[in-house]
Amino acid sequence: METKQHDLVIIGAGPGGYISAIRAAQLGLNVACIEMEKALGGTCLRVGCIPSKALLESSEHFHEAQNEFKNHGIGIEGLSLNLKKMMKRKDTVVRQLTTGIAGLFKKNGITHYMGKGRIDGPGKVILEGKDEATLECKNILIATGSVFAPLPGVELDGDRIGTSTEALAYPEVPEHLVVIGAGVIGLELGSVWKRLGAKVTVLEYMPNILPGMDAELVKHATKIFKKQGLNFKLGVKVTGATKDGDTCTVTMEGEESITCDRVLLAVGRRPNTEGLGLDSVGIETERPGIIPINDHFQTSVPGIYAIGDVVRGPMLAHKAEEEGVACVEGIVKGHGHINYDAIPGVVYTHPEIATVGKNEEQLKEAGIEYKAGTFPFMANGRAKAIGDTDGFVKILVDKTTDRILGAHIIGPQAGDLIAELAVGIEFKASSEDIARSSHAHPSLAEVVKEAAWAAYESPMSI
Ligand code: FAD
Ligand code: NAD
Repeated sequence: METKQHDLVIIGAGPGGYISAIRAAQLGLNVACIEMEKALGGTCLRVGCIPSKALLESSEHFHEAQNEFKNHGIGIEGLSLNLKKMMKRKDTVVRQLTTGIAGLFKKNGITHYMGKGRIDGPGKVILEGKDEATLECKNILIATGSVFAPLPGVELDGDRIGTSTEALAYPEVPEHLVVIGAGVIGLELGSVWKRLGAKVTVLEYMPNILPGMDAELVKHATKIFKKQGLNFKLGVKVTGATKDGDTCTVTMEGEESITCDRVLLAVGRRPNTEGLGLDSVGIETERPGIIPINDHFQTSVPGIYAIGDVVRGPMLAHKAEEEGVACVEGIVKGHGHINYDAIPGVVYTHPEIATVGKNEEQLKEAGIEYKAGTFPFMANGRAKAIGDTDGFVKILVDKTTDRILGAHIIGPQAGDLIAELAVGIEFKASSEDIARSSHAHPSLAEVVKEAAWAAYESPMSI
């Protein structure tokens, strides 16, 4: 087997791996990136963020054409759904973006190996698959991401009882889709299929949807999703899901079983370290497979680093990217930067739900005295004009210093509006800083400004 030399070998070409590769190449390293799937981009681009957002957009257009256009004086006759075309559009978006990464690798002089990477000692990776080689390097970066978490009794068949990957490509609209887990995937993909005409029942083990999120936001979101027709069964323990022909049966503890034609299992994801050769270098994982790292993303073995879904923290594409950049800058320059308090999280339902920093429950638990400023989209001119007024912006600030500690938004474009508050937290801004910054009129961003005024002193437009 041929031996090749590199400064840095990255295993996995998801958002964590491919961004690390580009930054490291920009900083002058001889970089190789190994990916076992044909397409680059990882879970996020192939079967995660991007295809789900393409379907969320298409299904929202369908829903609006069916239900909202008439409010604007637009009549439509003969509206129909061409699911095949909707899926084809999603596939095109994915293809364009994944091939774009191949172009970026080429532009930055990154060696792309196709195959499975296995660590065989410090500074040594065995490449198996389409390309075969022994790679010797100064540093190894593990960016192998995550895989779905199974649930005992739920018999996945890769078709009717499946995960998000199957739910991104159903060949027809289910009659009745049962979603196990009211987390991000359950709500996003449950919304897609509800909008396209399925009956959707969401089963959740905890007493609330989106566990861990700001309670006020969750309460408001639950009300809206119920109004949209999502059926929730909260606080239930699923004990199994089986298939007989085209019919699936989902069983729960102490509840009547439910029959349906499709089941989506979405109870979380877990780090992907299978066959990675961690044993060969003595790296021990923590439950449920997380690779422990220090502040510089280094594992217990010098020269072996890990980032993204395979390490602790939220499983988000932009978190993986931030870690990747900080990690390789640390390797090359001796220091990198990441602020975990300023990493936003967005649920791309309608309305969107976006959060950054601490929520009220976390501040109370930490004994931090805070003030909350809230402003509703209902009182905003742009929201009225676009006919999308459900929701609010809430900004939490330190009671003494006025520094922004957290922000929570449910409403139109919440995923974009949250960026200003993430930057605010990064720059250690106060609510007065945001309140006194000019925001264009009429814009949804004025809701952020008014919520900042509410936190600082008092809002003006309500
Ligand atoms: P991944 O993207 O999982 O990439 C890891 C790569 O490593 C994979 O391509 C894998 O094939 C490869 N690999 C693994 N082992 C090996 C090996 N031994 N050799 C070679 N290659 C290997 N996050 C968001 O921020 N926003 C969203 O909107 C969003 N939507 C999502 C929707 C869904 C349906 C799902 C499932 C996830 C979503 N996520 C979203 C989460 C996001 O996809 C992940 O947080 C992100 O992809 C993690 O990036 P990563 O680089 O750590 O790992
Ligand atoms: P999640 O952690 O968001 O939600 C899982 C849900 O399943 C939780 O509400 C949990 O209480 C529930 N659950 C767990 N065990 C259960 C059981 N036995 N019965 C019923 N419910 C049970 O996980 P997910 O929705 O699978 O998403 C996986 C990861 O992907 C998340 O970490 C998320 O960050 C990421 N993701 C992000 C986005 C986004 O950023 N927009 C979108 C999709 C996925």
